[in-house]
Amino acid sequence: MAQQFDVIVIGAGPAGYHAAIRSAQLGLKTACIEKWRSKDGKTVLGGTCLNVGCIPSKTLLDTSHKYSEAVHDFDDLGIKTEAIAIDVPAMMVRKDNIVNRLTQGVAALFKANGVETLAGSALVRAGSTVELTDGEGNQSLLTADHIIIATGSVPVEIAACPLDGALIVDSSGALAFQSVPKKLAVIGAGIIGLELGSVWNRFGSEVVILEALDEILPGADQQVAKEALKQLSGQGLDIRLGTRVTGTEVSDDQVNLHYSDAEGDRQESFDQLIVAVGRKPCVDHLLAADSGVAQDEGGFIQVDELCDSPVAGIHAVGDVVRGPMLAHKGMAEGIMVAERIAGQQTLVNYDCIPAVIYTHPEVAWVGRNEQQLKEAGIEYSIGMFPFSVSGRAMAANQTAGFVKVIAAADTDRLLGVHVIGAQASELIAQAVSAMEFGASAEDIGLTMFAHPTLSEAFHEANLAVDGQAIHISNRRRRK
Ligand code: FAD
Ligand code: NAD
Repeated sequence: MAQQFDVIVIGAGPAGYHAAIRSAQLGLKTACIEKWRSKDGKTVLGGTCLNVGCIPSKTLLDTSHKYSEAVHDFDDLGIKTEAIAIDVPAMMVRKDNIVNRLTQGVAALFKANGVETLAGSALVRAGSTVELTDGEGNQSLLTADHIIIATGSVPVEIAACPLDGALIVDSSGALAFQSVPKKLAVIGAGIIGLELGSVWNRFGSEVVILEALDEILPGADQQVAKEALKQLSGQGLDIRLGTRVTGTEVSDDQVNLHYSDAEGDRQESFDQLIVAVGRKPCVDHLLAADSGVAQDEGGFIQVDELCDSPVAGIHAVGDVVRGPMLAHKGMAEGIMVAERIAGQQTLVNYDCIPAVIYTHPEVAWVGRNEQQLKEAGIEYSIGMFPFSVSGRAMAANQTAGFVKVIAAADTDRLLGVHVIGAQASELIAQAVSAMEFGASAEDIGLTMFAHPTLSEAFHEANLAVDGQAIHISNRRRRK
């Protein structure tokens, strides 16, 4: 007989494990199915985020940033160093230890909350039934009142650059290099391309990033994207816009890359190549023909704003559904679905999802950018404050970038906050809170900020919306 649960979650990435833990906390009999296995055959929880995404990439970004500061900036601060070197295998062992601690932490949380972990691959069938195939190929049937699909996403591959796992890799491969490539190509100047390109550039790789579009970071405010391009190019990243990769050949431990740009066809040899052209929903062998669950033209599982599919009792959350592919967006959706199953009225505010790019300087934003407001015909005012005049930024030798606040022209309510600068990932949290509470720029202007902090730039940018900033000459910009 099929094993019966209140809730079955498919996938133990951030969206799935949040859904599973909250379901169990709310007294629902919950199982979570996960197919990810370690080299020694053990089930691994945490999904892309913990294993090959947010955590390992930020570990390498933080390490490479410290290395880069030691090599390039310490002298300016009066800190004298002996020769600095990076031990890449040691860095990778530390990264793997952090990943293991966190993935085992999820397993411990499952145990503590009574979530049953089921190892294997899930296929959703009609009638609220899930077919589970374990690592040995054994099949069993499970049923549940609610099924939450949280199967995440996988990298997009392109025919021109077939991965070989050694010289041509995706982001997972680039998080496991055992030495610094001398000359590295990256296809795609999106978030992964800029973050991982930065890591290896900081360790001394000559990094060329080839981007099909004529801009980087199309989701960002254009003023911020332009500043990011200027800052990153200044660090030595060779970002070539408007390029189209047409093919690759591997020979003599080199990747020969063919591409075209405005001036015609070109080729260039590299030691390694990272393909980072986006991610797509993970739906392979997930939906039986009779499941009734539909996908959109991009392959994403179709759900409404509550993450409910048209099939009663089937929900989907995280990267496998529409919206930005961000861990925290999936976590919020997982919690919402679990709480609604338990009878609560939780919602996700899709207008307040922060985005962060962990380059240096970091880029972060929440809400709408200037392009989007212009397109929507909404009138707004802007307040800007550069870190170059912040006392704390000077003390920290982190003067690049600015805070840009966009407020509604009629109500003064915050519509968007855009930051490029050191610790933008942390600064943006206060903008998210302010927008969640419906703050106006004046509200933030009337709030006291500790001195000296980088957060004062957020304060002053809000004051600047109405021409009241103290440390810059105010020119009011109303659009
Ligand atoms: P996933 O984390 O992809 O998890 C899905 C899980 O489902 C996987 O464990 C998979 O094995 C399992 N699964 C799939 N199919 C089945 C099946 N049929 N049966 C059983 N199990 C199945 N986001 C951020 O917010 N911040 C960052 O800094 C950040 N950095 C990133 C860096 C990199 C290099 C990458 C690649 C991504 C990064 N992301 C970041 C994106 C983030 O990792 C994803 O948005 C997030 O992991 C999505 O969570 P999820 O739970 O929806 O899916
Ligand atoms: P992306 O969508 O951010 O960027 C892909 C880039 O590749 C785009 O600029 C696109 O124009 C370009 N591109 C596509 N095809 C190309 C081609 N054939 N030749 C040249 N350029 C091409 O995708 P990504 O960087 O792979 O990241 C995937 C997702 O993972 C992101 O959208 C994001 O949601 C998530 N992620 C988030 C973070 C973070 O939050 N800090 C970090 C890494 C990844």
